[in-house]
Amino acid sequence: MFRRLAIIGGGAAAASLLSELLERDATPPLQLDWFTGGGHPARGVAYATTSEQHLLNVRAASMSMFAGKPRGFLDFVQRSDPAVNGTDFLPRRLYGDYLEAEVARALKQGRARGHHVNLIPIAVDALVPETDGVTVIHGEESHHVDAAVLAIGALPPQPLGVVGEAALASGRYVVDPWRLLAAAEQIQPPRKVVLVGLGLTAVDVVLELSARWPQAGFVGLSRHGRFPEAHLRNAALPVDDGAGLVEAMRDAPEIRQWTRLLREAIGQPGIEWRAVVDSLRPHLSGLWAELPLEQRSRFMRHARWAWERARHRMAPAVHDAVDALERSGRLQRRCGRLRAVEVDGASLRLTLAHAGVVETLDADLVIQTVGLETDLRRSDHRLISQLLTNAHIEADPLGLGVIADRNGHLHHAGQPWPHLFAIGSLLRGTLWESTAMPEIRQQARQLADRLLDG
Ligand SMILES: Cc1cc2nc3c(=O)[nH]c(=O)nc-3n(C[C@H](O)[C@H](O)[C@H](O)COP(=O)(O)OP(=O)(O)OC[C@H]3O[C@@H](n4cnc5c(N)ncnc54)[C@H](O)[C@@H]3O)c2cc1C
Repeated sequence: MFRRLAIIGGGAAAASLLSELLERDATPPLQLDWFTGGGHPARGVAYATTSEQHLLNVRAASMSMFAGKPRGFLDFVQRSDPAVNGTDFLPRRLYGDYLEAEVARALKQGRARGHHVNLIPIAVDALVPETDGVTVIHGEESHHVDAAVLAIGALPPQPLGVVGEAALASGRYVVDPWRLLAAAEQIQPPRKVVLVGLGLTAVDVVLELSARWPQAGFVGLSRHGRFPEAHLRNAALPVDDGAGLVEAMRDAPEIRQWTRLLREAIGQPGIEWRAVVDSLRPHLSGLWAELPLEQRSRFMRHARWAWERARHRMAPAVHDAVDALERSGRLQRRCGRLRAVEVDGASLRLTLAHAGVVETLDADLVIQTVGLETDLRRSDHRLISQLLTNAHIEADPLGLGVIADRNGHLHHAGQPWPHLFAIGSLLRGTLWESTAMPEIRQQARQLADRLLDG
């Protein structure tokens, strides 16, 4: 058992692991250092929003932070509003309230069990894994723990390679949409806004900024020019447990075959495609593990965008709001591959190519909304850079976080560190599905077991 632990990260993954640990009896009691990196402990990036337009993209009944208490979030909201239904898509702000309440409860319970938690609202700068533990360094201080867990979420967004230096320096190209949303009221409202990327991040941004800047028009740009799919208002009935499809996919670990099998499964009469996609979810990490690197790379090139659109869907009300913006003419979508972003007088000029045609587009403000950054090799995250430079960790070759095993042990030189773990987005290369709460809470529970047994 590891007695002295450091949890590094201030989001829902860290909150979930901390609460799992504090709920258990451990002898001797735990000494936990929780480095939250500033910000709102437990809420992290996704649940610090105060906008009521920002809804969860998972139904309330599936958003518990505890794998062992599936109704956790639903019970929390129904205590103040019994009319809430498990199939509802609720505001993310409310989910942040739940995380905070559960962490406060776990801290109290933990204290009663004799555990000691040190909440440290700063970022860890460096880690040195050793044979008997890990040294944690922050500012001028360092101390030794038996084990450390990286729960740092996605990495800070980096500018796309096609964006010119002058465009970046102009302040008109925004790399981090979350920082922009937090400070939007201090910005002179622009008239023409271009969003680069059309995933769920773009949806968040356009809903919030179209309300704040009523005179602004928006153009959303992506290679395929399509937003994510929407959830059905009522949950689709499960097809079955997906076992037949999963078995067939296991027998043919090749992207072209998987695409064919999925098309066939979805094409069956009376089958709702969402139910087929959802039936695969619990099996995805196992299936991903079966795929050779070359096939994973093929997936990333050819199938990822379609999978992400189908898998990470918008809540129906969010879809309606986006649709209304499009119908009013305030939001347009464009297909194209971005070739360049340059300064042009007081504006930015974007050059895009689509079907052999090169076009340009002008904007007062360009916002990069390409989704979660997980490529360590491009990152300026201080701790990650330190760990990579010292060869303490290795980057996933496809830009999907770190090299790790399925238990969350980080690897170096082909070997697992016994005392250094990760949870959440950093494990995408190992597990593929590793960014949303239904997966993160499972990881938190299993990791808590491992840490207490270790
Ligand atoms: C806008 C948005 C909406 C989402 N909606 C949903 C949803 O509806 N349902 C769902 O299941 N999932 C959703 N997700 C997925 C989301 O990633 C997870 O639900 C969850 O929030 C991930 O939490 P995390 O702790 O891994 O990461 P984060 O929330 O990113 O938290 C990581 C934290 O670590 C801190 N940190 C970083 N470096 C250090 C350091 N060196 N030292 C200390 N702290 C550090 C950061 O400051 C941050 O606070 C959404 C994600 C986003 C971005």
